[in-house]
Amino acid sequence: MAAQAGSGTLHVVATPIGNLGDLSPRALETLKRVDAICAEDTRHTRQLLAHFGLERPLLALHEHNEGDAAAPLVARLLAGDSLALVSDAGTPLVSDPGFRLVRAARAAGVRVSPVPGPSALVAALSAAGLPSDRFVFEGFLSAKAKARREHLQALAAEPRTLIFYESSHRIEETLADMAMAFGDDRPAVVARELTKLFETVLDGGLAGLARRVREDANQRKGEFVVLVQGAPEAADAKVAEGRRLYARLCEHLPPSTAAKLAADLSGAPRKALYGG
Ligand code: SAM
Repeated sequence: MAAQAGSGTLHVVATPIGNLGDLSPRALETLKRVDAICAEDTRHTRQLLAHFGLERPLLALHEHNEGDAAAPLVARLLAGDSLALVSDAGTPLVSDPGFRLVRAARAAGVRVSPVPGPSALVAALSAAGLPSDRFVFEGFLSAKAKARREHLQALAAEPRTLIFYESSHRIEETLADMAMAFGDDRPAVVARELTKLFETVLDGGLAGLARRVREDANQRKGEFVVLVQGAPEAADAKVAEGRRLYARLCEHLPPSTAAKLAADLSGAPRKALYGG
């Protein structure tokens, strides 16, 4: 819908995920300028504003009232007020409230403008050293073991890097379930307390990571992003199998025969078996 003349703007403002130094100058300027700030937890945001010497009108917008609160907020925007939307940490709408307000504002022709900044998923991906050209964000897994395991099982063949949010209560179980669904050796990263004092980014195979977290209580404290390398693409899996067969067959057969057999059995091109 075309922007309504005379209406205000809804600014979607990212806030720090730990280190307050990550609030951008533009975010601060926007929060100063708007008529009111819609916040997931007004007490939390009041503290953030106080740290920066700001005091602004705050309106509660959380998962329990968003359905009812969106329409009056859109009416206010249409009447010309500008509002900011923030969550407790990181980027609103990313495993946080805001989707219904943003959708309603856009449907009403209100301008919605992002003030980008921290998000735990991108921060974790940027430091993980896993393939980052394509990735899938899965948010939080179910707290129920059966649903969580089924969800992970359904992702076992996904070739893109997988990103999950997890809490300290479940990190141990989740890593064990991931090792079961994706295999003990699947490369993964556990990014904990990013931008904070006890930030750690652990990498390794899933079973090894599960063990480290199980054996060290400190590694179960705080907030977590878990990243898992995607499954090998079908073609890569064939080549991996072909190379494995070639190496074994070479122990008993001349290389050319071993390569022919390995290529036939795996479906990988013969040439691909000599490299790597
Ligand atoms: N909107 C936020 C964002 O953009 O990242 C995410 C909000 S979600 C309710 C909170 C979850 O994000 C935490 O349980 C944790 O999984 C992850 N998270 C937030 N801050 C983090 C940090 N500093 N280090 C690691 N994970 C973090």
